[in-house]
Amino acid sequence: MLAFPRSDVFGAEAYGVELTIDPDDVERLLEVDPADVSAAPALTFARNVFVPLTTACRYTCTYCTYYDVPGEASLLSPEEIERICERGAEAGCTEALFTFGDDPDERYTEIHEQLSAWGHDSIHSYLREACEIALDCGLLPHSNPGDQTREQMKLVADRNASMGVMLETTADVTAHGGPRAKEPGQRIATIATAGELGVPFTTGILVGIGETARDRAESLLAIAALHERYGHVQEIIVQPVVSNERWRGGTPDLEAMRRTTAMARSVLPDDVSIQSPPNLAPVEELLDCGIDDLGGVSPITDDHINPEYEWPALRELERIAERADVPLSERLPVYDRYVSPEWLSPRIRAAIDGDDEAGRRYRALLDR
Ligand code: SF4
Repeated sequence: MLAFPRSDVFGAEAYGVELTIDPDDVERLLEVDPADVSAAPALTFARNVFVPLTTACRYTCTYCTYYDVPGEASLLSPEEIERICERGAEAGCTEALFTFGDDPDERYTEIHEQLSAWGHDSIHSYLREACEIALDCGLLPHSNPGDQTREQMKLVADRNASMGVMLETTADVTAHGGPRAKEPGQRIATIATAGELGVPFTTGILVGIGETARDRAESLLAIAALHERYGHVQEIIVQPVVSNERWRGGTPDLEAMRRTTAMARSVLPDDVSIQSPPNLAPVEELLDCGIDDLGGVSPITDDHINPEYEWPALRELERIAERADVPLSERLPVYDRYVSPEWLSPRIRAAIDGDDEAGRRYRALLDR
């Protein structure tokens, strides 16, 4: 059997990552259907606040309503970050979810000028300060700054309980196209870098942006291969693209979501969670395909990634669990098995071990 070097296709080699996927594994995964996997015995969720640090983004994905063009992009001030985090901690959240576009390019002159006025030469340098603010407010940071170089991730890794980036797909799709196209190889390299740096990591795939079922299988196999190498993938999000003011390309049908979710459950070890966001996906019809996490819910901030889709109330999550007849429990933004010196920095461990109200809140979730 000849293993073909799919890394050539994914473009990861250009970023120093070798990734080989066996074509027989792709064929096997394409045969998986929901009957081959089981429903999870329990569901989890995290309580978070969205902190949209900046809406600047170097890319222009055609399904994305998050980014703003130069001249219109926002950048939260330290005071605004503090206010959001304080409200989140008061509401009982444990996670500050820092959302971004991707490293703002030179077009965003006003963003760079503002960062410079605040004493920062990069968005990552500012993110480090933002994470400190969150920690001081009693929240654990989880940042999603898009593609990251090793130097960028190193700058912020020890101030995050976990980090993430959606792989979305290993395929070159036109939805990522245009003059500033997002590259799958760079996303793979970011996930690999997180593994090398020992960062508990969240990733996932976006279904319905022009990729094929085979592309989905290859994307999941790529994530599984990176997890096998580093052991750092804590969860995979299986997310459908949804209609919005920029995307009129439709949303994947239920069958596609069920098969993709089952493929994800089948290809990852059981301790890697499969997450479905209830505000975007028909979660109840996916539970038998192996979903075991409902993602983050926020009692106080909008879902800034998909503002047109409101988060269901916590009560709705409880109803989902009740109807499925499984227990629902809250978790930290870092999964329990990564709460150890091997995976967490002294700063994050000190927050979790702290003798303050936040530390007690964190540990209560670990002891559940
Ligand atoms: S999906 Fe992410 S990378 Fe693409 S435009 Fe939106 S914020 Fe930028």
